[in-house]
Amino acid sequence: MGESISVMVVEDDPSIADLLNSYLSKEGYRVLLASQGKRALELFRQEKLSLIVLDVGLPGDLDGLEVCKAIRQTSQVPIIMLTARDSEIDKVLGLELGADDYVTKPFSPRELTSRVKAILRRSTQSAEPSAEPIRLGEIQLDLKTREVFLQGEPIPMTVREFDLLSYLFRNRRLALNRRQLLDGVWGVDWYGDDRTVDVHVRQLRRKLKGHLPLTTVWGVGYRLD
Ligand code: CA
Repeated sequence: MGESISVMVVEDDPSIADLLNSYLSKEGYRVLLASQGKRALELFRQEKLSLIVLDVGLPGDLDGLEVCKAIRQTSQVPIIMLTARDSEIDKVLGLELGADDYVTKPFSPRELTSRVKAILRRSTQSAEPSAEPIRLGEIQLDLKTREVFLQGEPIPMTVREFDLLSYLFRNRRLALNRRQLLDGVWGVDWYGDDRTVDVHVRQLRRKLKGHLPLTTVWGVGYRLD
């Protein structure tokens, strides 16, 4: 038995929190519950968390977006946001603040659980142990440790950002449309929209400070040169 994987659920609706608690516990995860942003940040500081499920609409001083932003200042722990169906802006903002994924309410707990498992599998896998680091200009990608370096300096990446970057690296010189990128990086069962790709591309460009030779192919998608 390995050490248990801790997942924090930040949700003020007790019925949803209970439901997620029981589903995730059944998967063998240690589940920590917080119903307010402040408490979530306390637990985040005290505990070694492997993933956070974070409701956007929280009572009190800090909503989910602010919690996400605060966590991203020090940590790349995977975050799945729970957003209200009618709030497009929350989805985009959540991704821009560094969330890895979002699920729209009402959602199926089974679906959310499979997202959690998929992200944890990616973030914990020791992928391609024989792979040599890939270098492109000033950027270096270490597939073994899932680290990215720009001019030798480590650049923190979320799970999805890293996956997107490595996918682009592995498919250099190919024009990839957004659907291919969604399928290749987020998985074929992903039902999010194209904007998810654009937001992550924007993050990569910003973090890599103009060193990413990524071309927007008009009407298609993106190509890494
Ligand atoms: Ca709520």
